[in-house]
Order: sequence, then C-alpha cells, then structure tokens
Amino acid sequence: MTRRVLVVRFSSLGDVVLTAPVFTALKKRLGAVHITFLTKNQYAELHRANPHLDEVWSLDPQKDSLSSVIEWVKKGEFNLMVDLHRSLRSRFISLRAGVSVSRYKQERWRRFWIVARPRFGSRRGVRPVVERYLEAVGWCGALGKEPDTVPQLYLTDKVLEQGREWKKEMLQGREGRLVSLLPGAKHPPKQWPGTYFSELSQMLAWRGDVPVLVSPPDIPGLASDIVAMVGTEGIGFSEPLGDVMQLAAALAASDAVVTNDSGPMHVAAAVGTRVVGLFGPTSPELGFAPLGPSAAWIHLGHFCSPCSKHGRRPCWRGKRFCLLELKPELVIDALDDLFQWGQS
Ligand code: SF4
Repeated sequence: MTRRVLVVRFSSLGDVVLTAPVFTALKKRLGAVHITFLTKNQYAELHRANPHLDEVWSLDPQKDSLSSVIEWVKKGEFNLMVDLHRSLRSRFISLRAGVSVSRYKQERWRRFWIVARPRFGSRRGVRPVVERYLEAVGWCGALGKEPDTVPQLYLTDKVLEQGREWKKEMLQGREGRLVSLLPGAKHPPKQWPGTYFSELSQMLAWRGDVPVLVSPPDIPGLASDIVAMVGTEGIGFSEPLGDVMQLAAALAASDAVVTNDSGPMHVAAAVGTRVVGLFGPTSPELGFAPLGPSAAWIHLGHFCSPCSKHGRRPCWRGKRFCLLELKPELVIDALDDLFQWGQS
C-alpha cells in the first residue's frame, strides 16, 4: 500500500532549499510513498522538478486561512506529517487535522547558549539543520559523505536556458568567469560592507573576471547602491530578479557566487555553483553552513560571534569587527581555492 506523507516547511528561502534531502530519504526508506510538500507560494517552484517529490502544495498567507489549510490536510488523508517548520501554526495544523506527526529538533537551547557564549562560556555547536531534518524521517548517517544528504535543486531545461540567456546578457561579449556578488541579506547587521563588495568587484575586474552585482527577489536596492559607488567599468549589474527561480537560474549559470549568510547562499550551493558565504554576527556553528563540494564559507571566529541567531540584532560592540576585518583579499583567496579545486 502506498503511504502518503506530507512534508511542511513554509519559509524562509534557505530553509526551504535545505529540505531537499528529506524527499530522497523518505523515498529510500519507505519505498512506495506519495510525498506532498507544503510551503508558501513564493517558494513553491523551488522543488517542483524534484524527481523524489510527487506534489507541491502552496499557500498564500494573504488569502489562505489556517482553517482552509487544515481542511486540505484532512482531505489529503496523510499517514504522516513531517513538520520541518515546528511553529505554532504547523503544530495546530497537525493537531486539528488529526495526523501523526514527526518533528525535527530545533535545538533552541543550544542555539541560545551559543549566542550567549561570550557571557556564559559554552562552545558546543548545533548540528547542521539538514541532519536534524533527516533525523525527523529516521535517517542517521554521515552528512555530506552520502551524496543524497547534500541539498540539491533540480532545474528544468527552461530554467537552465533562462540562466544561459542571463549570463550572455551580463557578459556582453566579455570573456572571463562570471562571479555573482550578492550584497543583500534580510537583516542589515549581517551584510558585508558595501565598500568591500565594491573593492572586491574592482579586484575581480582587474584580473579578468566579470563581477556582476545581483539583487535577490526580496532584497532589491543594495546592488544598485554599489554600482553607484564604483560605476560599471568592467562590472555587470543585474536588474533585481523577479522570483526565486530567476535567482536559481542566474546562480546556476554563474561560475562563482559571493554572498552574505542568506537564502541565496544555499540556493547557489544546491545548484552546484562555487559559493563563498560570508559570516559575521551569525556563525556556521548555528547549523546553517552551506553544504556541498562547491561551497565554502568564511567566519573569522571573533569571541563575540555569533551574537545573534539570525543576524537581526545591532552590534553591541559598536563596530562590526566580525565583518570589517573580513577583507576582500580573503574572499579572493577562498574563490581561488574553489576554482583550483574544480580543476584538480
Ligand atoms: S563584532 Fe559586533 S556584530 Fe560582529 S559578532 Fe561581535 S558583537 Fe556581533
């Protein structure tokens, strides 16, 4: 008999991307299983082409009431709900729909102690969120060592073609590796300084690469601010991308990506593009390091970092030393390591 499983993760971009290995693990473990993924409408296309997923349900928070979502879930006659969001709303849905539920471990307390470390001295890291997602479906193994445990976004030929067109437009006949720079992040304290992005873009242009400033769908503006600072001599500028699939197409077509700790960092890693993630007030210790053979990150390990779970809080030291001391030269070195590794 085919079992029916509902996997729930409403948001945000990075968290939704990181759910991918769960679908593969469920198919492997349960064999005959029908998997439905429930997410917010702006992320619904991300996993639409995933061959391990049977169906995507999307909800529009402006239009779909909680009771209508509960009705969908009831009608879906699921044997199991895998709750990877673990919010009040997702708990309420499982409770009211009367479906058995398996939840991932948020490790809230451990995250709290890591952020409080400068004051209380704890140094234990949180397990990667993908490992905790997989644990919710009974998987235990070596994360990253088994290929199916690395999040992957499956892009259709149409999306890949869109990416190639975008790259052609950005290169404008120039030769060189296209390096996408994403200066945005949801929370301003975790944005690497704009002056560093502009220095990095000039350094890349001088050595023959083609840096392109890119704005993800929900964070427009910053890329154009940097272009205003440095001009467009040797530098490309992408108009703000309209949705997550345009973002995935652009990042898949790039030769490398440099980004703050943000959702696009996970998108780049999941489409297999070389990516350098920049961490300041947040830290990979919180379980959100980019995964995959083409992913690298830089975190200087200041005693005060991480000072915030999501990078929302302003710097309590007055100056963001964690990002100010992360100079563009370090990013160039990390990029070169990734390019070299790709050749060997
Ligand atoms: S330097 Fe400031 S922003 Fe950076 S980790 Fe320390 S307290 Fe946080």
